Amino acid sequence: MYKDVIDFIKSVYKTDEFIPLHEPRFIGNEKKYLNECIDSTFVSSVGEFVDRFESSIAEFVGARYAVATSNGTSALHISLLAVGVESGDEVITQPLTFVATCNAISYCNAIPVFVDVDRDTMGMSAISLKVFLEENAIVENDTCINKKTGKAIKACVPMHTFGHPCRIDEIKEICDKYNISLVEDAAESLGSYYKDKHTGTFGKLGVFSFNGNKIITSGGGGCVVTDDEEIAKKIKHMTTTAKVPHKWEYKHDMTGYNYRMPNINAALLVAQLENISVFIKNKHELARMYENYFSTKNMTFVKSPVNSEANYWLNSIILNSKEDRDSFLEETNSRNVMTRPIWCLMSKLDMYKDAQCGDLDNSVWLESRVVNIPSSVRPG
Ligand SMILES: *Cc1c(COP(=O)(O)O)cnc(C)c1O
Repeated sequence: MYKDVIDFIKSVYKTDEFIPLHEPRFIGNEKKYLNECIDSTFVSSVGEFVDRFESSIAEFVGARYAVATSNGTSALHISLLAVGVESGDEVITQPLTFVATCNAISYCNAIPVFVDVDRDTMGMSAISLKVFLEENAIVENDTCINKKTGKAIKACVPMHTFGHPCRIDEIKEICDKYNISLVEDAAESLGSYYKDKHTGTFGKLGVFSFNGNKIITSGGGGCVVTDDEEIAKKIKHMTTTAKVPHKWEYKHDMTGYNYRMPNINAALLVAQLENISVFIKNKHELARMYENYFSTKNMTFVKSPVNSEANYWLNSIILNSKEDRDSFLEETNSRNVMTRPIWCLMSKLDMYKDAQCGDLDNSVWLESRVVNIPSSVRPG
């Protein structure tokens, strides 16, 4: 039934072998920098490549500061702590996301609250957020309180799904009005812009991931970006065991974390970042090929929403029903073309099934229909 799609994807990647969903490409200075890093003996938590990476990523996204971390999950965790999320607080997020978003909230012993996504962006819906807060929240002594639970709503974590920016300016305005800290989960959206501003730079903090399946990788890694010097310093401190700088003494002024990115990972990442424009251009071309192809098929290719330029990290299509989706997944995966459904909603997972939710119609609709198709940068 989907033979034509399978043949098309095989023709795009010019192979009959297995086609993964997303694999990294090492086309630049990766080996050179790794060798330099090893020769220097500074392979671990201090080193020149970490500093180089932090200044290049800050420049690339247009933020004043960046702090490299061990992965995107730790970057999210530390960001929530840095904006003051404490045990028993609530954090608003979307149910349609990778589980790491909710894990980070749980690490703070905080409670996720789920509001719906928009169908076109697949990311947090500003309208759903507004409706939820109008119905449930009041601001008392500068703190947003959930009237139903009596708990403080401290932060909001929208996610830019598969690199498609959500309506982040409207979300920011709502968060500001209710005195809720905005932390963007931009793990998937390096190279994506909303109204010409890079995703991850709208909130107080933005988080990126450099896991092996992301648009660029350090093997494992992440970072936090911000314009706030004080918060940047605090995050650097908290991620480096909260050690008070001293030539020889071990003094730590709080329970810190070992969330540093090792220099050897940063070496790989500096080389990857040098080629981000090449990767994005290649991905935009691929997205155009898919868009043209699917325009004549009975499936919808997900395009960059209005006012935004997506990185097209993972391409996705919308099937007409769950039954169609299941047969598509079955047929493509059995024929060496890797495809994956979008995530199971967080609000259905055992850990979060009792969480407070807004109306989740769009999330439910997308959950049963969206499939990711191969999206690696085409070689050559
Ligand atoms: C990849 C990802 C993360 C976590 O990143 P890791 O580096 O794997 O810890 C967080 N949120 C989203 C939406 C992601 O896709």
